[in-house]
Amino acid sequence: MSTKTMSTATVSTEPASKWEAVIGLEVHVQLATKSKAFSASAVQYGADPNSLTDPTVLALPGSLPVFNDEGLRLAMRLGLALGCTIAKQSRFARKHYFYPDQPAGYQISQYDEPICLGGSVPILEDGVRKEIELTRIHLENDAGKNNHAGARSLVDLNRAGVVLCEVVSEPVLRSAGEAADYMRSLRQIVRYLGVSEGDMEKGQLRCDANVSIRPRGQEAFGTRAELKNINSFKFVHQAIDHEIARQIRLLEDGKTIVQETRLWDADAGRSRSMRGKEEALDYRYFPDPDLPPLEVSEETIERIRSELPELPLDARARLISLGLAVDDAEQLSAERGMLAYYDATLVALGGDTHAKLAANWVSGALLAELGRLGKSIADSPLQPERLAGLLRLIADDTISGKIAKGILPGMMESDDEAGDIVDREGLGQITDTGALESIVDDLLAANPKQVQGYQGGNQKLLGFFVGQVMKATGGKANPKMVNQLLRTKLTAK
Ligand code: ADP
Ligand code: MG
Repeated sequence: MSTKTMSTATVSTEPASKWEAVIGLEVHVQLATKSKAFSASAVQYGADPNSLTDPTVLALPGSLPVFNDEGLRLAMRLGLALGCTIAKQSRFARKHYFYPDQPAGYQISQYDEPICLGGSVPILEDGVRKEIELTRIHLENDAGKNNHAGARSLVDLNRAGVVLCEVVSEPVLRSAGEAADYMRSLRQIVRYLGVSEGDMEKGQLRCDANVSIRPRGQEAFGTRAELKNINSFKFVHQAIDHEIARQIRLLEDGKTIVQETRLWDADAGRSRSMRGKEEALDYRYFPDPDLPPLEVSEETIERIRSELPELPLDARARLISLGLAVDDAEQLSAERGMLAYYDATLVALGGDTHAKLAANWVSGALLAELGRLGKSIADSPLQPERLAGLLRLIADDTISGKIAKGILPGMMESDDEAGDIVDREGLGQITDTGALESIVDDLLAANPKQVQGYQGGNQKLLGFFVGQVMKATGGKANPKMVNQLLRTKLTAK
């Protein structure tokens, strides 16, 4: 294959290609603590610049760090959910590098003794679950932010000291698409767990991607480049695809790949070298003498483990096993709030018998109504119990689905129970055989031509009669009974 045709990255690692990509991600997750990692300053997005600081954040002489208990709990919660081994003792180290938004001149991170080891993040490959192995998860604090305005740069330390978890994968991802799936799955899990809001636009989830290529079939890894500054799923995909194509072009041109750190420029749609191996930073790690080792007991670990919720892919599998379509199962398990709503509806319905009916209504009519009102499922004015009340009336044939759809908007805007609305407005189905029979008899007598037509073989005319009965009853006739009555009467005539 010529280098020219290789410039489109999408063909670069197709199974037929000579090359295989090897990718490992380092994802920074901002933990949802109220205060910072090593001091009591509040964490808040969008506050006035430098309003969330204190002597520790500013690294003033004499200030001492104390680690945030909630940060430790959230890190363990994430680690346990991902099947990591929690270290009973871990340690903070100083990682030295100069940057204007880091007053201490070092970051407090974990080095050779991280809080979590191993574990994995599940993704779906053609609908089948696949585990992406992790190396480790460690704790660290965030830096501030440099805001560049023309010739001046302004430092905002509001983000400085915020608790981060760095989730490091093994080099087991094989395509940009797989890497993006991994990011999506990790985001969904941290949101389910409530350990982070996972809002990429607010920088709560940021990714560095390590990318190398090797001839397909070769075991040894190629030289890798590390892409920094990737802050959306789309950019994860684009940046990695672009990097794979760049490396293939270099090797096919007989050049070599140098180990370097590159910066992804989303606007230009390309990366540029930030620093090579020679300029690689020597972080001069050493244990932070101001912080004692982090110790956690077996009881604490087991308590946190026992508090874990069902995770997204497990929920998806459970919903599929209840008979739901894959799309519905995916939609209803996408967010924990949505799943909780659906499950509460099933409980109120008294079990899983009407799982499909509930799924259709939650993912269909309810979401549409919420959309109309500009509300999310979390602040739905219709609670699962009242929706279940409506669905029970459909399930026991008191009303048709169509009548129920008509009732729903009123339920969204009032506290009325479905049963009360049906009684008040006389919407209950006509199930009285005598009453239905006389309506059917009248209709057949009034439409002799159509009766003849049906008996002559035009089965479609059944629909005509059903429609007429519905019209005569304002849509309230029980459809099953009407169909049965019509068939019997038409054949008997
Ligand atoms: P560093 O500390 O320099 O960032 P690590 O060895 O901790 O390096 O690895 C960081 C990330 O790079 C991990 O996610 C790992 O899976 C990935 N990685 C390591 N070697 C390669 C390689 N040859 N190709 C792609 N990714 C790699
Ligand atoms: Mg790295």
